[in-house]
Amino acid sequence: MAPMDIFHLKTYPLCGKIKTAKLKFKAGEKMVTQLKYSNTNTYLISGKKGCVLFDTGWAGTFGLLCKALGEKNITLQQISCLIISHFHPDHMGLAGELAEHGIEPVIADVQLEYVHASDYIFRKENNRFFVPLDENKAKIVSIRQSRKFLKSLGISGELIHTPGHSPDSICVWLDDDRSLLVGDLAPLYELEMHKNTPTGESWERLLKLRPKRVYYGHAKTAELDSSLPAAPCDDDLYALVKRIIRLCEKGQTPERISLRTNAPQKLVKDVLQIYVTHPGVSINGILDRLEIKDL
Ligand SMILES: [Zn+2]
Repeated sequence: MAPMDIFHLKTYPLCGKIKTAKLKFKAGEKMVTQLKYSNTNTYLISGKKGCVLFDTGWAGTFGLLCKALGEKNITLQQISCLIISHFHPDHMGLAGELAEHGIEPVIADVQLEYVHASDYIFRKENNRFFVPLDENKAKIVSIRQSRKFLKSLGISGELIHTPGHSPDSICVWLDDDRSLLVGDLAPLYELEMHKNTPTGESWERLLKLRPKRVYYGHAKTAELDSSLPAAPCDDDLYALVKRIIRLCEKGQTPERISLRTNAPQKLVKDVLQIYVTHPGVSINGILDRLEIKDL
């Protein structure tokens, strides 16, 4: 072993080229592990047949990634593939280098034209660590087929295209954990500012999933109110509440809204009360406050 290799293994002992079993999810364990080694929160998603790395730090942070993995007793070889929330430099900086270490980059079809959108930033700063991603070595997954792909790793979930922060932004949804990994999609607490924008629309779709937990690229993980189970009638109720609000905005009286929607007068009254006393509240916010279990 060359002296340089000894140094490398000493510094990052878990980055050695020893083949080990893939990191697998065991019942009762958390599926998502946060790895913080640069300005970006990155995550490991453990499936029953493989492990996904979601996002990476800036080019030049490979050693820090290995160190962060080592602290959690995880080796690089245990990671099956890399999914990138969007191709901004602080989320994809290590993708090319990781591919050289055998971690397959996964590119969603909606991201294909953006893969090299940030390369110029690394070139401009003369970043000697940056390795451009080679699409030929990547796995291209269509958003519509993403469930099948994740299933191959023993993960029940899907990739969701969520434009807003950037046109190539995608989220990972995990069925079992009811968790979302959203990258740089604006945090929920800023949702009011994004009404009627692509970000607002992306969140509207995501919130229909009734997530319990949201993992952000830069903000603290959000635990959402999980007291409400996802009831089969959710979609109907969601649509009904939305219609009540729309009619109210058109200036219709509660009585008239009740007549037009067939909704009980008490429900209309409750919805409108929440709507006017909580500026910017989302439909799901209204549903949460309604305690729909009792309806
Ligand atoms: Zn970004």
